[in-house]
Amino acid sequence: MSRKGVLSVISGFSGVGKGTIVKKLLSEHDEYAVSISATTRAPRTGETNGREYFFLTKDQFESMIKNNGLIEYAKYVDNYYGTPREYVEGKLAEGKDVILEIDAQGAMQIKRQYPDAVLIFIVPPAAEVLRKRLIGRGTESMDKITDRLKRAGEETAYIEHYDYVVVNDMLDEAVMDVHIIIQSAHMRRKENEDFITSLSKEIKEKFI
Ligand code: 5GP
Repeated sequence: MSRKGVLSVISGFSGVGKGTIVKKLLSEHDEYAVSISATTRAPRTGETNGREYFFLTKDQFESMIKNNGLIEYAKYVDNYYGTPREYVEGKLAEGKDVILEIDAQGAMQIKRQYPDAVLIFIVPPAAEVLRKRLIGRGTESMDKITDRLKRAGEETAYIEHYDYVVVNDMLDEAVMDVHIIIQSAHMRRKENEDFITSLSKEIKEKFI
């Protein structure tokens, strides 16, 4: 069977743990490549340019938009975030399963351009868990946390456009769920048409 790279989008409310899920998936399996986004947001303590994000100025970001260097971009709570085109297209061509950890606005743009992309939305087991995780993470001020929780409320409207929902209660289970979803996409009939055509031909020639 052929192995073209599957493009997946992982979204979820801020603080739901999608970054942790993606990191663990990557450490456990070789077939994945995660796109590093560009953003105009300031780096958090411990974040490095080129590792978590490419940190750009607004001018640099806008010139990437103009040069068609992004496959999607969105404004999220006052900052731009976008996915660089070159990395994603290169890795898919190499057969890697590319993961985009992006927001719902970006996910909708991806679905329009790549209809076979697999859209996964990560949710917490309950609303209050989200607030506790965001406070526990300690990376945002209380004002920013309030903005992000409000944003989560708005993002619920997008869930219906996703293909899969994964509950992040036990981390290991959530990681396995995401892995199974993406790997089953390789078994879609559409992904294997060349193989099916040649196998069918062979069977007909041999047995009819
Ligand atoms: P954070 O500031 O917490 O790192 O990210 C804020 C939000 O931006 C998250 O929901 C994250 O998934 C989203 N995001 C990160 N990179 C991208 C991107 O390249 N495109 C889009 N549309 N959203 C992104």
